[in-house]
Amino acid sequence: MNSNIHIMDGVQSLRDVDVAGKRVLIRVDFNVPMDSHNNISDDRRIRMALPTINYCIDHNACSITLVSHFGRPKNGYEEKYSLRHIVKRLERLLHRNVEFIEDFSASRDEIATCSLERVFLLENIRFEAGEKTNSSELSERLASICDIYVNDAFGTSHRQHASTFGITKFIDTKVAGFLMIKEIEAFSKALEEPVRPIALVIGGAKISSKITLLTSVLQKIDKLIIGGAMSNTFLKALGYDMQNSLYEDDFVDTAKEIIEQTRQQGVKLYLPVDVVITDSIDHPIDIKVVPSQDILEGFGAVDIGPATVKLFSEAISLCNTIIWNGPMGIYEVDKFSRGTFKIANTIADSYAYTIVGGGDTADAVDKAREAENFSFISTGGGASLELLEGKILPGFENLNRKDRES
Ligand code: ADP
Ligand code: MG
Repeated sequence: MNSNIHIMDGVQSLRDVDVAGKRVLIRVDFNVPMDSHNNISDDRRIRMALPTINYCIDHNACSITLVSHFGRPKNGYEEKYSLRHIVKRLERLLHRNVEFIEDFSASRDEIATCSLERVFLLENIRFEAGEKTNSSELSERLASICDIYVNDAFGTSHRQHASTFGITKFIDTKVAGFLMIKEIEAFSKALEEPVRPIALVIGGAKISSKITLLTSVLQKIDKLIIGGAMSNTFLKALGYDMQNSLYEDDFVDTAKEIIEQTRQQGVKLYLPVDVVITDSIDHPIDIKVVPSQDILEGFGAVDIGPATVKLFSEAISLCNTIIWNGPMGIYEVDKFSRGTFKIANTIADSYAYTIVGGGDTADAVDKAREAENFSFISTGGGASLELLEGKILPGFENLNRKDRES
């Protein structure tokens, strides 16, 4: 049914190639959530990459170079986005020394010269101007330090960047890492032959990047449940006065179109009927629960209210496949976390096949102590939505196929 997944199912994995004595470059996704003191608040993405890295170590790869992005640096180096902050944790998890490469250009020759069993971590690849522009120069430079390219960065596999896409033009042996394979298998189960009804629960703050995806997702789902700042844009589209709530004016029309499309396509749409509002996010004094139509002047919606939790929970409980991406409120703040945690509990308690995508959503599920109770926690938010949309992820597009010579 969803041929996109089917196509990705056929990629070669690390197990299909011999890494002994080879220089391996692994594109990992170490874009972990971090607090303002540079503490890693959830190291799931690092832990999920360990099987691939350990496999290369155990099978005597001659060098392993880990490449990742971290955050969204605007214009070159920014201390807070340095991957230096994760080196210690990575070393601890790998039980071995990792050499941090601050200046890739300067160290290129040293890395390219095969040296027995060293593990390198390049500085945030997005500090290189060529990463996001998918420059051939950077792609080629990355390719020049390895014999085998392994893409294990599911979370970035929907991007056509130099380290996720461009590099494949310059290298013959290119395969998927174990995390990539695991992710695709989990989504195959949800998308190829889902046990219906299937619900998409969506929220969070990345409204502009997620809202346009919804149009094509509608063909695949039975229920669309929207919370978080995402729902503020939809409530605005219904004509409600959202006051100081976070929403995106530019996407109110898109929200209107999606509401109309859900009607046409028979997808059941659920929006918050009540919200938690506050006078201030950082220093809240006045917090209230109000119907979505009654947001007070000067207040903003920061969580779904109890009536909405009940509504969403009833809708969710009737589903057999549930995909969740995006928190229902500002879950990082205790007082605004209740809606998100309750929805985490409901989804975890259901008997459905349950998948979570998105860095913050996965973190919220962890904080709700429900991580064990989900069928699968994906390391990709945008990537998983694009899968749902029916796209072939660029990160898979050029990898070697099982039925093809590499
Ligand atoms: P994910 O990382 O799971 O894909 P997003 O990055 O899209 O999710 O969104 C997570 C962020 O959305 C969180 O930082 C959370 O505080 C924020 N958020 C959720 N609801 C609201 C809201 N009503 N107002 C402001 N921010 C919100
Ligand atoms: Mg996020």
